[in-house]
Parts: sequence; C-alpha cells; structure tokens
Amino acid sequence: MKEFDLIARYFSRPAPAGFLGVGDDCALFGVTPGHQLATSTDLFIEGRHFLAGADPAAVGHKALAVNLSDLAAMGARPLACLLSLSLPRVDEAWLEAFASGFYALADQAACPLVGGDTTRSPAGIVINVTVMGEVRPEQALLRSGAKVGDDIWVTGELGAPDIALQLLQGRLPADTALLESTRPALEKPLPPWRFAQQLAGVAHAALDISDGLAQDLDHILAASRCGAELDCDALPLAPALQGLDSAVVRRAALTGGDVYQLCFTAAPERRESIAGLARDAGTRVTRIGHIKSQPGLRIVTADNTAVVLDAAGFDHFS
Ligand code: ADP
Ligand code: MG
Repeated sequence: MKEFDLIARYFSRPAPAGFLGVGDDCALFGVTPGHQLATSTDLFIEGRHFLAGADPAAVGHKALAVNLSDLAAMGARPLACLLSLSLPRVDEAWLEAFASGFYALADQAACPLVGGDTTRSPAGIVINVTVMGEVRPEQALLRSGAKVGDDIWVTGELGAPDIALQLLQGRLPADTALLESTRPALEKPLPPWRFAQQLAGVAHAALDISDGLAQDLDHILAASRCGAELDCDALPLAPALQGLDSAVVRRAALTGGDVYQLCFTAAPERRESIAGLARDAGTRVTRIGHIKSQPGLRIVTADNTAVVLDAAGFDHFS
C-alpha cells in the first residue's frame, strides 16, 4: 500500500464544517475572537511508551488522550489535532484498530484530526500527536497561578495505572483480577476535558498528573513560589486497589505516573461552585490539601504524621 492510499484509507475522515482538513498542504480553521491558540505535542514510542504487543486501539486512544490532558491542564477547549506516524511496515489490522481507537476519542472530545504525516520507520512504531485548543488568555490555568491559602484538588482517582504497570512489569506478584481492573486506567485514560474548560477562570493553577502527583505538584509549587500540605488520607484511591497493602497503594497514589487527571488549586470561596461544575461535568473532584507560604511539599496523614518519599518514590513515616 502506498503512503497516499494509506492516508486515504485510514486517516481521511471529513473534517467538520468550517475546517479544511486532510488533503491539502495545511489545515485551516479559526479561533474564537478573544481566545488564544493553546498547543501541545507528545511523542509515543514503541517499547518506551507502549509495549510492542499492545492493543492498537488502546494505543490510538492513549496517543490522543495524553495530549487532550495537556489542553485540559490549561483549561483549553480542544479544536483539532495532527497525527504523525512512522511505521516499519503496513499492517492493515493494526492500522484499522489504531485509527478506530484514535477517532473514537477524537469524536468524543470534539477534536477532529485535520492533518499529519506518514513515513516508513527503519525500526519500531513512532507516533506523534499535536493538539490545538483555545482558551481566553486571562482564564488560562498556568502553573504559576497558585496562591497561599488555596485548596489543592485532584480530579478522578489515583493509583490504578501505576499498579497495572507494576503488574505488567512483574514488580508485583501476578494477579489476573487486579490487572483486569487496573489496566483500563493505564491503557485508556480519560482526561477531564469538559470539566477543565469550566475550571478556566475559576481555578488559580493547574497541571495534569503524568509523572506522579507529588512530583507534578512540585512544578506548581516551584512556578508559584509557594509550598503545600497534602492530606495523604484524603487521596481519592481507585476502588480497584481496595484490599492491597496500604503502603503500596499510598506510594502508587502519590508517585504513580500515567494518571492524566488534573491537580489544581483554587480559593476556598470557590468550593461550592467547583463541586457544582464537577457534578455537571460528571467528574469526580477531591480536596487533598492546601497551599502554604512555607516552601516545600509536606505530606501528612489524618492524624498529622509526616509521610516521607525518598528519591525512588518509596515512602516511610518520619
Ligand atoms: P506533504 O507532502 O505536504 O507533507 P502529505 O502527502 O504528507 O503532504 O500529506 C497529504 C495530506 O495528508 C496532508 O493534508 C496531511 O496533513 C495528511 N496526512 C498525512 N499523514 C496523515 C496522518 N497520519 N493522519 C492524518 N493526516 C495525515
Ligand atoms: Mg508529509
């Protein structure tokens, strides 16, 4: 199959009205007046970001999901996306499933695929997705916006993707039922893009949790020049983790990556409106701590015992 045929067959669904999509030298579309273009890109490499035998529909889903997560973290509304693919060979079954996973999420998020590039790879599959969204610049959720006294919130649940990864990598003893219940969170994350748009102009700061809550929250603290206290017992743990060793679960929740949910800060006066917006969007939100002037991240249990994370992400009580 030639490159043109491949694009025509798998990646040329018509773009919505008002868009010039796949087929010309550039895509064309507008940004709503008063808004700015928000753009982000992520590479997705076989053997590094997904396993060689991974379900191609899940790979297509996740390659777009991790990018939608970045738009959500700015409070931006998805507008369109680009997909570049480098493939060692044309595997029609793989392409068919990959495209179906990708388009299913693109449709759900109203983020049409409007272009890309396709080449042959000397070894392994390389995927690059670029997303474009729009946000009012004065409402964009920057990492630098946190204020002393803000509540710290997270969306969704924590811990499941990391437990699934540990099971797949043999770092936890094999457990088929646990893998089955945690794997969807790892392979098919669903960032809260609808709720995130409502948060724009309401929250002070936000980012998406890709490397682990504690490490990612540190980026907000550094950019906003402040500190934080987290209540370890308030973390919204994935129900699938019930019954597991509590130290393993706490470590997964605090340091586990691949979550693609938001951590955001907002004034305490906004608690009710945030809870209402979250209810309307069908997104779970949990208050997990607050921003302090004293630098550093302090993690405590409900009875005020400090939890210490070492470099490897292991925690112990000080
Ligand atoms: P060019 O030579 O200008 O790079 P191409 O032949 O690579 O153009 O691409 C032709 C059209 O197909 C362009 O509109 C491009 O954006 C689109 N395209 C190529 N690969 C993909 C892909 N994997 N997904 C979506 N669109 C693609
Ligand atoms: Mg090209």
